[in-house]
Amino acid sequence: MKMIENWFSERYSDNLQLSFRIKDQLLSVRTDFQRIDVFDTYDFGKLLSIDGTVQLTERDEFVYHEMITHVPFYSSSIPVRSALIIGGGDGGAAGQLLSLGVERIDNVEIDNQVVEVSRRFFPDLAGSFSKPGVNLVIGDGVKFLRGKKAQYDLAIVDSTDPVGPAEGLFQEEFYRNLKEALRPGGIAVTQSGSPFYQPRALEMAYRGMRSVFRNVRVYTAFIPTYPSGFWSFTMGSDAEFSSPKGVRVGRYFNGDIMRGCFLLPQFVHEIIGD
Ligand code: SAM
Repeated sequence: MKMIENWFSERYSDNLQLSFRIKDQLLSVRTDFQRIDVFDTYDFGKLLSIDGTVQLTERDEFVYHEMITHVPFYSSSIPVRSALIIGGGDGGAAGQLLSLGVERIDNVEIDNQVVEVSRRFFPDLAGSFSKPGVNLVIGDGVKFLRGKKAQYDLAIVDSTDPVGPAEGLFQEEFYRNLKEALRPGGIAVTQSGSPFYQPRALEMAYRGMRSVFRNVRVYTAFIPTYPSGFWSFTMGSDAEFSSPKGVRVGRYFNGDIMRGCFLLPQFVHEIIGD
């Protein structure tokens, strides 16, 4: 991460970076786990970055948060009343689940500073932590899952990329525990990175899900401020995924997206070997 003449840049490789011209840097703090920055950008509103990578912006967060929640919600063959979110310290995923009528949500975030910063700078998202039904737990999602049995209809891994504190969230032990924590017929979903810039993250997520679930599907979305703008999610279940007729339309999500997001370009099929 570099700031030159009021630009914030996320580096994707030695040869490429995405730069946002900023009005101001609103915060920079080093926590026990990572570095958190908040910028006020010209084009994308406020931007939250962790260790120099964009986590969300006010302008396009709806894409990621709708897609990580609505797609598994509507794919579920059982009613989704209870959910687990691992990561998601900004509150965006919890807010979307509440809007879908999910009654009980445990949100396990490792870094309480992400929650505090989000409460201060992204109150529309972090406000969900104060709503009835949402139980915020500050702790490591890997440890939290150990020994949990059949408690959730849906489990969402809304994490940072597989380095640092999130490394364990892409390992096989974690996927086994994730499955154990689900009720019969439940669904797990993880964000699985940019197929173009982070094919290994997608491969690891797909392999991890495949090692424990009978059915696994990858889907994608257009997220302007994430590397390459083309993002993947991987979901798994032992039940067949359902294809709903009617869905509640969001700002990105609709019935066409629900059907079309599973169509994958050939290079993505090749990454997951399927
Ligand atoms: N939308 C984002 C993205 O894909 O760029 C993810 C946003 S959310 C802020 C990611 C969160 O995962 C961070 O706040 C980070 O602290 C949290 N996290 C990382 N590893 C974790 C772990 N082992 N247990 C719980 N939370 C974790």
